Amino acid sequence: MSFSALDRAQHLDTLFREKWDLLIIGGGITGAGIFLDAVSRGLKTALIEKGDFASGTSSKSTKLIHGGLRYLKNFEIGLVREVGRERAIVHTNARHLVRPEPMLLPIYHDGSIGRITGSIGLWFYDLLADVERTERRKMLSREEALAQEPLLRQEGLLGAGLYSEYRTDDARLTLSIIRTAVDLGGLALNYCEATGFIYGDDMVSGVRCHDILAGNERYITANAVVNATGPWMDAVLGMQNHATSGEKKLLLSKGIHIVIPRSKLPVNQSMYFDAPADGRMIFCIPRDQAVYIGTTDTEYQSHLDALEVQDVEIEYLIQATNHVLEDTTIHKNDVTGSWAGLRALIYEEGKAPAELSRKDEIFISPKGLISIAGGKLTGYRKMAERVIDLILKSQPLTDVPYVECRTQNLRLAGADFDSDLDMQVMSEQLVTEFIMFSQENIAKLFNRYGSETRQILFQAQSEISQSPGDALITSEVTFSIRNEMTHHLADFMLRRTADVFFDQQHLQRHFDAMTAAFTQQLRWDDARLTAETESIRQVLGR
Ligand code: FAD
Repeated sequence: MSFSALDRAQHLDTLFREKWDLLIIGGGITGAGIFLDAVSRGLKTALIEKGDFASGTSSKSTKLIHGGLRYLKNFEIGLVREVGRERAIVHTNARHLVRPEPMLLPIYHDGSIGRITGSIGLWFYDLLADVERTERRKMLSREEALAQEPLLRQEGLLGAGLYSEYRTDDARLTLSIIRTAVDLGGLALNYCEATGFIYGDDMVSGVRCHDILAGNERYITANAVVNATGPWMDAVLGMQNHATSGEKKLLLSKGIHIVIPRSKLPVNQSMYFDAPADGRMIFCIPRDQAVYIGTTDTEYQSHLDALEVQDVEIEYLIQATNHVLEDTTIHKNDVTGSWAGLRALIYEEGKAPAELSRKDEIFISPKGLISIAGGKLTGYRKMAERVIDLILKSQPLTDVPYVECRTQNLRLAGADFDSDLDMQVMSEQLVTEFIMFSQENIAKLFNRYGSETRQILFQAQSEISQSPGDALITSEVTFSIRNEMTHHLADFMLRRTADVFFDQQHLQRHFDAMTAAFTQQLRWDDARLTAETESIRQVLGR
């Protein structure tokens, strides 16, 4: 199968014509992980996503592949151990997308973590996550902490802990997992919404599917159907033809992030600190030309597709940042971007969002629909393994024989390197080979496409009528339409690149070349181009 937007008609034809062993509803990281696990174990599998891939929570996270240090406070030892250990696996399988990120935990006289509790907590965290000796936490003196991050407020500073996490691009990680599964024979389509179920022998045997781009509806048949729709899980459960009162329910917790230009907040490195308002922990992470700060954790009960960032949430993050960083007061009008996401937590009577477990849970509805909710970006692979184990072991859901999970050592698309050194050598070779492009631009592409960057540079070098920057974006758009199922400007600007948040100047400089590449590749007429630019203006306005 290809993963090209240009092949949509053939893909739809296959989707509706074939009978699938497994159909997955939802193209966030959970659905993506299950898709890859299933395809790599030999199941004939399709995935549908109602918006763009990763357009739900999986592009709205803090973008860390982490063990969840703060879950230790809730004694979620099993969860911290599992996701902590997954970090190294996800890194090895996608080195260009999952990079080590040292995290500074400043310790203040009036903070919620003391020197001893901080030291023990981080030691225990390393132990649970089985962190390599050289990467284990270091406790820093006050002077060492200030040398590490000169912007830290000096008053009351006792020292800091420096420990290992990994950072990622959540949307690109999701896409890369889906791409890998497609390369192995799976079929994935975005802009296809499950609108109802079909039944055979009174058991779920497929879905009614609305093709959002063409506006029509057809049926997909499958032996097993997985509901991996995260925050939309209850809505999808509600589409079944029986009462769902006895089934698990979600509590949705909203988390926002804000983006500040690095020129306004020139932090040296990633940090994790207390919010003075309520003692919750906040991340502050530099990325490209910007720094992002988050997150909040409040119950959300409104419409799922109309999630907005509120002023009061922005103020909360600004106040927390200004409290811990000296000489750099940031204001609301310094915020150049923001995003809001929803955690799908399993509801427990009497518990607030911050107290609810981040563990995943799988359950099977009376008519066979398999749903999974909860969990973390970081734990996607293990979650997927559990779902496919359950499906393969529970006859008569499928008659495919049981095989062990294969994803632990499965490199993702673009991760064609054996070691960090191997990756570094490859990226340096590109800089010497493609001298017409800046080192910075090549590095940016390499962080997104890894070993596939060469293809983009190779095509860009043939766009001789354009400036190097325009040639690069033209080639990147072409690649993403043909290899990452990109249909809209917003898909590209928000999720294939995230430049909307982290490098707005680059987008502004090359906006015309970008739209020209879309127009040419997807044969847009003027009306379509106007609609696309209007839609992206609305996103930017928000
Ligand atoms: P989603 O990403 O929401 O995917 C569900 C998909 O289903 C959506 O794309 C939606 O469009 C689609 N869908 C819904 N209904 C239908 C339908 N009828 N038909 C077809 N498709 C449908 N985890 C970490 O490990 N590290 C972090 O740093 C981190 N930070 C976080 C910060 C915040 C603020 C939040 C909210 C979460 C964070 N998490 C983090 C958790 C992590 O982001 C989520 O666990 C994960 O993204 C959930 O993925 P998902 O696929 O289950 O849901």
